[in-house]
Amino acid sequence: MKAAVLYGNDDIRYADWPDPELPAGKVKIAVKASGICGSDVPRVLYGGAHYYPIVLGHEFSGTVAEVGEGVTSLKVGDTVTAAPRVPCLKCRDCLAGNIAQCGNDSFIGSREQGSFAEYIAIPELNAVRYDPSVSFEHAVFFEPATVALRGILNCGFSGGGHTAIIGCGTIGLFAAQWARIFGARTVSVFDVDSERLGVAKALGVCHAFDSGREGFIEDATGATGGMGYDYVIDAVGNNATLVTALKLAAAKARVSLVGTPHDTVSFTKTEWELINRKEIWIRGCWQSYSAPFPGREWELTAECLADGRLRVEDSFIFRKYRLDEAKAAFDLFKNPSQVHGKVLLVNG
Ligand SMILES: [Zn+2]
Ligand SMILES: [Zn+2]
Repeated sequence: MKAAVLYGNDDIRYADWPDPELPAGKVKIAVKASGICGSDVPRVLYGGAHYYPIVLGHEFSGTVAEVGEGVTSLKVGDTVTAAPRVPCLKCRDCLAGNIAQCGNDSFIGSREQGSFAEYIAIPELNAVRYDPSVSFEHAVFFEPATVALRGILNCGFSGGGHTAIIGCGTIGLFAAQWARIFGARTVSVFDVDSERLGVAKALGVCHAFDSGREGFIEDATGATGGMGYDYVIDAVGNNATLVTALKLAAAKARVSLVGTPHDTVSFTKTEWELINRKEIWIRGCWQSYSAPFPGREWELTAECLADGRLRVEDSFIFRKYRLDEAKAAFDLFKNPSQVHGKVLLVNG
């Protein structure tokens, strides 16, 4: 088969690659579309791959082409995506349901062959079947949708509260939709990119604030009657957004940290004191799994995409490339500020 193979740093080429083997318990999937995740960019461009040569890619959709011995839950032709983490399901953390903390795990598309290929074989348990009414290009968005949902579920979200979503990247836009699905009183989004704020508005959020503008904290707080936000989801995770989260938070608010920092984060004494004074409850989250694996994040995403409560807009997709154009797709990220949304690699 053909694949986009990473041979070394910044050396991704369309090439022949061995067909995946199909041992018992695995399913072989004909890949239709893959997304380039933020985590793939350093793997390709900045020496971040575990080894070479490797085929990356973990956000994808396709159809079951063949099932290995003993596979019972899937059949040829099913439309599927994958939960990319492969936990051991035997260690203390796995047995306790802390799937994301498993230390004996593997990961599709970073430790083992990924989806930037014509075919991929994955364990039956990792395959997530979805309704064929969801397009292949939209189903690529499963993983970011589950990560956003994790950020909502993990902070004990319940309906009726003012909710702030910081960052209108893919995860932020899904978090805003989940907040509505779970009954938020209002949803306000924050970003410096007016185009992305427009996308959020089209999805039905109540308020969209330009966080590069002076006075936006006051305006946004005003939108809650001056009380602040009961839930704040930071889908970015840089110094400015973390400080914004603390400022937007109401007393006893729940702040959910979904985005992960790429740089040192520091707070002034006054900023830090906001946590004390407002008795803010801060919760981190990591990946998007719960027991039984892969968990309700994946089940709910499949259901809500199928019935239309969770929407993927075409505007979430920035650009599409064929698999043999993978190099051009990654070259885009050499200037990340020109990328506004998900870049897809499509097969056939
Ligand atoms: Zn990803
Ligand atoms: Zn484990």
